[in-house]
Amino acid sequence: MKTIGLLGGMSWESTVRYYRAINEGVKNTLGSLHSAKIAMYSVDFGPIEKLQHAGDWKAIAIMLSGAAQRVESAGADFLLICTNTMHKVAPEIEKSIKIPLLHIADATAEALVHEGIKTVGLLGTAFTMEQDFYKGRLSENYGLNVLIPNEEDRQIVHKIIYQELCLGKIRADSRTEYLRIIDALANQGAEAVILGCTEIGMLVTQRDTKVRLFDTTAIHAQKAVECAI
Ligand code: GLU
Repeated sequence: MKTIGLLGGMSWESTVRYYRAINEGVKNTLGSLHSAKIAMYSVDFGPIEKLQHAGDWKAIAIMLSGAAQRVESAGADFLLICTNTMHKVAPEIEKSIKIPLLHIADATAEALVHEGIKTVGLLGTAFTMEQDFYKGRLSENYGLNVLIPNEEDRQIVHKIIYQELCLGKIRADSRTEYLRIIDALANQGAEAVILGCTEIGMLVTQRDTKVRLFDTTAIHAQKAVECAI
């Protein structure tokens, strides 16, 4: 079994989900007391979130590249960045290490293509929904047609991520808002919706809606298990 490298802490609430999903995946595949071999570096998200909102992605790239190098020297065979948003600096991180990066958008797109989905809604931080590093990869490399919520709804989705989910707060009224936005995307023609932020699965699950959901945390973790075994 290969050692899975995790760059976590963004937020730690979602890194817990990765840790659990990866270990459960290994246990389901190998049985009995098997568990995943993991090397993780978990950052302090406080200063990083400030840099994100200040637009200083260069500083973030330097910090995360240093963390990725530590994961590599701890013995990881490949790396996962445990957040969609931080894939904005994935090219810089990738350049700073020798081990391969398992990109979250690739894992997600492969799952969508496998299910024959062509038009998909995307929920995530404003950075993920509005910028091209994520949406562009889905459409250019996989031919997916990506729909995002309107501006007002994007702000709601973004705010709930940073002010609630990253702090472990799960509120019923926020779930109602997310479900309304998911329905709106489906009404615009989305055949499925990507939960493109690693905390959203804490708030909304497939049990809550008939619209097909693709949870990036679960997909990325499962891909890591397949690559490790
Ligand atoms: N975990 C989130 C994501 O998947 C948001 C936190 C962050 O900005 O990294 O995008």
